Amino acid sequence: MTPRSVVALGGEGIGPEVIDATCELMIKAGMPVEIMTPPHGEPAIKSHGHGMPDTTKRACQSADGVLFGAAGRSATSAVVGWLRWEMGTYASVRPVKHYAGAASPLAHPEGIDYVIVRELSEGLYPGREGELADLARALPDLRDKFGRRVGEYGAGRFAAKVVTQGGVERAARFACELARGRKARGGQGKLTCITKSNVMPQSDGLFQHVVADVASREYPDLAHEHFYVDDGARRLIRFPRQMDVVLTMNLYGDILSDLGAETAGGLGMAPSGCYREGWAYFESVHGSAPDIAGRGIANPTGALLSAAMMLDHMKLAAEAERLEAAVARVYRDGKTLTADQGGKASTTAFAHAVLEAYRNS
Ligand code: ATP
Repeated sequence: MTPRSVVALGGEGIGPEVIDATCELMIKAGMPVEIMTPPHGEPAIKSHGHGMPDTTKRACQSADGVLFGAAGRSATSAVVGWLRWEMGTYASVRPVKHYAGAASPLAHPEGIDYVIVRELSEGLYPGREGELADLARALPDLRDKFGRRVGEYGAGRFAAKVVTQGGVERAARFACELARGRKARGGQGKLTCITKSNVMPQSDGLFQHVVADVASREYPDLAHEHFYVDDGARRLIRFPRQMDVVLTMNLYGDILSDLGAETAGGLGMAPSGCYREGWAYFESVHGSAPDIAGRGIANPTGALLSAAMMLDHMKLAAEAERLEAAVARVYRDGKTLTADQGGKASTTAFAHAVLEAYRNS
């Protein structure tokens, strides 16, 4: 089988620890992958004068798969900024799945298995901010819903939320295709849209209506529902089994995916894939976790399951399924779990247990 080229970027904090453990597993398991680890982040600033050198960008663009660890507050923000915004990935797929034996705070987490699709390129999250006085000068007649002009607030700052018809349409189609694929494998065939369109009828309202339009006109085979984000957050905790594919805006998706991850067993377990047409990269939902970095105790499950998503993307579906099944087996056995799961295993001990389960399956 032709080996797939993979670029692995550890990033910062616990990122390198969980990515190293994941890469070692892929190699020792004999998966048909060739892994490159080009310079990035702090070391690349020293050697190349930039956190994301051009050679690393080119390697990522031409690789079959890209696996990223975690961004911190310094040099690696250039890496994730390039992977997300310059590469134009617009759909972040974040599975929320409970594996028997994982430490969920819910009394009955069994059967939780849904996916959050976070729109990744628009909304509030990219951070278009400025001085309120500049906004008042540019838009003197802009009023809030109570009639106050921007200039009446006094000194302060603003953040601009951007929602476009085209941006929502592509995210909606992506989420609907995902729901259709899941339905073909026995899923509910349902799209749940989450916004706050009751208080932001222009921006969130556009998101809600474009999603409803795409879902009803182009995907009549799928069920479609909408919740306001406060109600949606409550439902993800109270009725997680009713969810199938949840599509939401950038900042809500950032928050709700941490919430979902916790219900399923913890932030350290949650994987993601960020997609655009013809290209994707994969990373755990968790960040750099500076409180546990360098101690060898981080849970690598998020990185391992992100690698499984990457393998699937690289058309190595059998390896992807086998890796996910091996992770599930280690949780079921419950003998080699990391500290966040109530165990004593190190990052590498957990990954070795997954490797053994992979080999024995
Ligand atoms: P960021 O803003 O960079 O996304 P964050 O504020 O969301 O980061 P994280 O770094 O994602 O915070 O993690 C929050 C906490 O969850 C960490 O401080 C750590 O205690 C725990 N945590 C996160 N990932 C893991 C992991 N892989 N294994 C064990 N604990 C983890």
